[in-house]
Amino acid sequence: MKFIPEKRPIQGETIASLTAALAESGHPAFRARQIYEWLYKKRVRSWDEMTNLSRALRTWLDETYDLHPTQPILNKTSGDVTDKILLSLRDGSLIETVIIRAPQSGVGRDQSRKTICVSTQVGCAYGCKFCASGLAGWKRDLSAGEIVDQLLEVCAREDSRTDRADPSLASFDNIVVMGMGEPLANYDNLLQALTIANDPLGLGFGARRITVSTSGLVPQILRLAEEPMGFRLALSLHGATNEVREQIMPINRRYPLEELIPAVRTFSRHHGRMLTLEFILIEEVNDTLDQAERLAAIARDLHAHVNLIPYNTVEGLDWRRPSLRRQDRFLEILKSGSVSATIRREKGHDIDAACGQLRLKVEKDGVPTPAEAKKT
Ligand code: SF4
Repeated sequence: MKFIPEKRPIQGETIASLTAALAESGHPAFRARQIYEWLYKKRVRSWDEMTNLSRALRTWLDETYDLHPTQPILNKTSGDVTDKILLSLRDGSLIETVIIRAPQSGVGRDQSRKTICVSTQVGCAYGCKFCASGLAGWKRDLSAGEIVDQLLEVCAREDSRTDRADPSLASFDNIVVMGMGEPLANYDNLLQALTIANDPLGLGFGARRITVSTSGLVPQILRLAEEPMGFRLALSLHGATNEVREQIMPINRRYPLEELIPAVRTFSRHHGRMLTLEFILIEEVNDTLDQAERLAAIARDLHAHVNLIPYNTVEGLDWRRPSLRRQDRFLEILKSGSVSATIRREKGHDIDAACGQLRLKVEKDGVPTPAEAKKT
């Protein structure tokens, strides 16, 4: 399904497309840079604040573009590490954006390093068994503007609380495209959004600070390898053999490991960046010695870092999280096989931070009142 809004989000315009749109409507090209500066450096949230633009131009902008394609309806905080923002889109769809803080000693919550996890689709068609985003299926792709505006919503929330040497810098450090949806299934809009995030006139995020996560779409991984911008890549592997991976990720039937691994190797060779392999540990499904040894061999071949994530319970599945002893034993096998590996004890489990869970809960139960939200 394609949603066509009345007005398109201005955050979806690259500097080139905005220049072209201005020229077509009789406005000078240099206005594009001024508009970008208001949007991405000063980060104003109304046309009237763009005070060096003529009234006629502000009226044209207002009639042509949507300045608020995403609107926050709920914030949930987990301890000191994770904030989840539920955003409503113009068609009433809900998406999630997550702020993940890396606690640093001697540094307060607001000043810690922040990674923003953005969504690229409403729902997801890929049905990975551990993931709530796919439970209600795919609804639609996000536009580039809806992807970029998630970053601006975070800035609107965080800028005033974060000390920055230069206030034009965004108030977060890294972007991971790992929220709701399979990013590479919305390839063109994703690339347009990341071009805007990467543009020095936009948010100025270097490609090495942007990680794209995929469940393993081989043709798109090969396409991404050819892009001039060298983003980081994270692959949701979750199984070191086809037999095991298929139980967890249906996409493996379409792109089995013998196609996926060479595609990822190609990406790695083109960009010379270390890959991350995500591996959710599920007791007696993929946490065996055999899986650990095979995973170590794949990681060595790809020069990849392995991120182990102990499984979180999903309703309707009888899989279990392995004991700490089994988790540590798995990690030890990787390390003794000369693989760089860490265990990520899930952040934000208590605020439904696992992909898609908060959205499903609100769609089912409605938006809680502020008092209810505090209690949950
Ligand atoms: S893990 Fe990603 S690709 Fe898999 S169902 Fe969830 S959102 Fe989709």
